[in-house]
Amino acid sequence: MKLEHIGIAVKSLGISDELFTKLLGKESYKKESVEREGVTTSFYAAGESKIELLEANKEESPVSKFIDKKGEGIHHLAFGVENITKEIERLKKEGFEFISEEPKEGADNKLIVFLHPKSTNGVLIELCQEKQ
Ligand code: ZN
Repeated sequence: MKLEHIGIAVKSLGISDELFTKLLGKESYKKESVEREGVTTSFYAAGESKIELLEANKEESPVSKFIDKKGEGIHHLAFGVENITKEIERLKKEGFEFISEEPKEGADNKLIVFLHPKSTNGVLIELCQEKQ
């Protein structure tokens, strides 16, 4: 597994895109809405990993619930895997719990699943696999 990206929940992509562009010295290379997740994402390259800014695009988005509860900040860590189905099976055997065990389409041409933070020290973990 490699650290594929870090997801950061933000209130406004307008404001945060400006901030991260200054911070990293480069523009976001991709913006993409994921309707089912209720988010608009903005990606930055950062070495071998990426930063994914997440802005809620509807009221009942998990990201707006997260910001209501905890404020803006680190939302999840995403690990890239070769075979997401195998990793889900492996991690289930190890006793990890998933929010949903069914891989779904995420941003950036990926299949994704989330582990439940109660089984991962309070950190929301995403597994992602490049779609073939
Ligand atoms: Zn992510």
